[in-house]
Amino acid sequence: APFRPVDVHELLDSTLLMLGRKIGDRITVVKEYDHSLPEVPVFAAELNQVWTNLIDNAIAAMDGVGTLTVRTAREDDRLLVEIGDTGPGVPAEIKDRIFEPFFTTKPVGSGTGLGLDISWRIVVNKHRGDLSVRSVPGDTRFQVRIPIAPAAQ
Ligand code: ADP
Ligand code: MG
Repeated sequence: APFRPVDVHELLDSTLLMLGRKIGDRITVVKEYDHSLPEVPVFAAELNQVWTNLIDNAIAAMDGVGTLTVRTAREDDRLLVEIGDTGPGVPAEIKDRIFEPFFTTKPVGSGTGLGLDISWRIVVNKHRGDLSVRSVPGDTRFQVRIPIAPAAQ
């Protein structure tokens, strides 16, 4: 079955390990994990794709230098995973459009504009969760919320 209970920290760690070379040694990785979180029923391979997309965007936004923060927390019946970066942020005038398919501000050939669209579909449609962003220059946080109780489908 695609949905199985996992320790989300293991998923995050494996994604960070996979992206190690891209993260490089001029980005500081800060993990703020709430280890009291229970295992959560998820589609692990797809959620790894979400972490990959968000971290990939964070690295790009920081242009290779800064602090990447990966935080987990419990919010009532939901798990929060927050991917934070110290890049310039998402300009207010495009904030409503970044989750649309093919929206990108990256040069032709370097961004498909599909990362956040795919992430949205995995988090919202598949896991009945939420995906949102809070951003000011120097402090951008993409927030994923996933129900801790088994998904309805
Ligand atoms: P792509 O990475 O191919 O451009 P995405 O769907 O992943 O496509 O992201 C869409 C756009 O959202 C990016 O081009 C960028 O403008 C904006 N964006 C995403 N993540 C960040 C971030 N961490 N900081 C600033 N802007 C971001
Ligand atoms: Mg992207």
